[in-house]
Amino acid sequence: MSETRSFICIGCPVGCPLVLTHEGRDIVEIEGAACNRGAKYATQEFTDPRRGMSTTIAIEGARWKRLPVKVTCPIPKDRVLEAARASHRLRARAPIRRGDVLLDNLLGEKGIQVVATRSRARASE
Ligand code: SF4
Repeated sequence: MSETRSFICIGCPVGCPLVLTHEGRDIVEIEGAACNRGAKYATQEFTDPRRGMSTTIAIEGARWKRLPVKVTCPIPKDRVLEAARASHRLRARAPIRRGDVLLDNLLGEKGIQVVATRSRARASE
């Protein structure tokens, strides 16, 4: 029996409404996309939805108490809360340079890193 899922494509500001028809895990049809990025987006959302994550963590020895960080590649949508909790347990110490790796293999997934998105000098510098 066919079922449908609806998505709004985020590939550009147009925001095409997409309707994905599937039978179990098999995709039958994707309608509503004005370009091929829409089908790719709907397929990804249906088969393996992932999200980027940006947050802040505590930093010691700097003028600012929080350090903005992000993950280097999208993580499974259903593990975002777990990833946020793991990130919030991190403690950085100044000086930090933008791009410094603060945690490797987040969630045990090889290649997913938490990196600083801002530099932070020591408070006395
Ligand atoms: S399907 Fe293409 S045109 Fe439509 S929102 Fe996605 S990227 Fe934009």
